[in-house]
Amino acid sequence: MTTTHFQTLIVGGGNAGLSAASQLLIKNPSLHIGIIEPSEKHYYQPAWTLVGAGEFDIKDTEKDEVDFIPKGTTWLKDAVATFQPEQNQVTCRSGAKYTYDTLIVAPGIQVDWGKIKGLKDTLGKNSVSCNYSFDAAPYTWELIKNFEGGTAVFTNPSSPIKCGGAPHKIMYLACDYWRKKGILDKCDVHYISGVGAIFAVKEYAATLTGIVNRNNIKPHFLSNTVEVDGENQTLYYETKNEQGETVRKEIKFDLCHTVPPQSAPDFIKNSPLADPNNPFGYVEINKNTMQHSRFPNIFACGDCTNAPCSKTGAAIRKQVPVVVSNLLSYLKQQSLKEQYDGYSACPIPTQYGKLMLAEFDYSNTPKMTFPFDQTVPRWSMWVLKKYVLPWLYWNRILTGKA
Ligand SMILES: Cc1cc2nc3c(=O)[nH]c(=O)nc-3n(C[C@H](O)[C@H](O)[C@H](O)COP(=O)(O)OP(=O)(O)OC[C@H]3O[C@@H](n4cnc5c(N)ncnc54)[C@H](O)[C@@H]3O)c2cc1C
Repeated sequence: MTTTHFQTLIVGGGNAGLSAASQLLIKNPSLHIGIIEPSEKHYYQPAWTLVGAGEFDIKDTEKDEVDFIPKGTTWLKDAVATFQPEQNQVTCRSGAKYTYDTLIVAPGIQVDWGKIKGLKDTLGKNSVSCNYSFDAAPYTWELIKNFEGGTAVFTNPSSPIKCGGAPHKIMYLACDYWRKKGILDKCDVHYISGVGAIFAVKEYAATLTGIVNRNNIKPHFLSNTVEVDGENQTLYYETKNEQGETVRKEIKFDLCHTVPPQSAPDFIKNSPLADPNNPFGYVEINKNTMQHSRFPNIFACGDCTNAPCSKTGAAIRKQVPVVVSNLLSYLKQQSLKEQYDGYSACPIPTQYGKLMLAEFDYSNTPKMTFPFDQTVPRWSMWVLKKYVLPWLYWNRILTGKA
């Protein structure tokens, strides 16, 4: 089998990979770029929260990958299996090998469905759903719409995940729907979270605590979901008792939205690119330049990196220009000038028609774009999330223009 060479090879044609390819071509139209991407479909995942709330058609979140591969690049429809960074080479599942001058690693994150016992078998039935699945998100809406009261459980893992807000966004929308339906007082709502606070940035957390209280949601922090028994509609979680011992608890539910732990895709974890000190196996990069810490011709962006930012498409919008500029500098043997400051954003709907746009950086300091107090949920930010951002994604972000 012959080996094909590219000036820049990109692993993953998702949000980060396609944005990077497009921006590279805008800056250097003669660059010879290959994109390795196995999927024929491309997904706008941020809308899956709205799908689960009955506000967005799932069909509009899926488009053909071929229509978004930037003209002038080569789509290699395959999946990377292993990396040989010493030889500037990757090997794909088909056996094909590709070499490169520079590599951008952007294969996203792995949702570890198997880490919650029983979840895979019961997802999408027995009143168990999850908006992190294209197939299950519409079922979330079926459950919320048809709920007549009882115990509703929403869970959040302790691992970093893509869009840290998504596990609780759907809970606020569900509560608002049930209030308008006149049944909220018959709903016993529990939030079982592996982390210790509702949100990491205190200014935005204050608003969310108000929403939690208004909806009479019972939070259980530092509580990790370990098993979902769908047939018996029982969820098991582990937490610490007053003596610091791990104890297993159970809760019966009538509706369950559960989000599993997440980590780097296995082929990244098992590769020389992974950070040996990161328990989730993410790609080891300099968190400011986005350059690999040990292989200088490799860059990474998107959900797959060990950068301690919140993993979102919003973060990618700020990471990609840094990667593109620094990679082009590297090719010209110049020093890397651009720095990513950890910017990320989490648009959190607090009820139908109102949303708080939480923006912040590595230091969890708010970085508000708009000239008003973004800790206050607003209609304008809901419009941004529901109408403006999806359009921007397909028309400007993937094409490298925003
Ligand atoms: C429910 C939900 C709600 C969200 N809400 C928001 C939000 O409101 N705002 C926001 O900014 N972000 C949100 N996000 C997060 C956002 O969708 C992700 O951060 C973003 O898609 C990550 O982009 P990526 O390119 O890193 O990964 P992806 O977009 O997931 O793309 C990765 C690509 O790599 C490919 N790939 C996988 N394995 C291989 C391989 N072996 N070889 C080659 N290619 C491979 C995949 O097929 C895929 O196309 C949400 C996500 C979810 C699931």
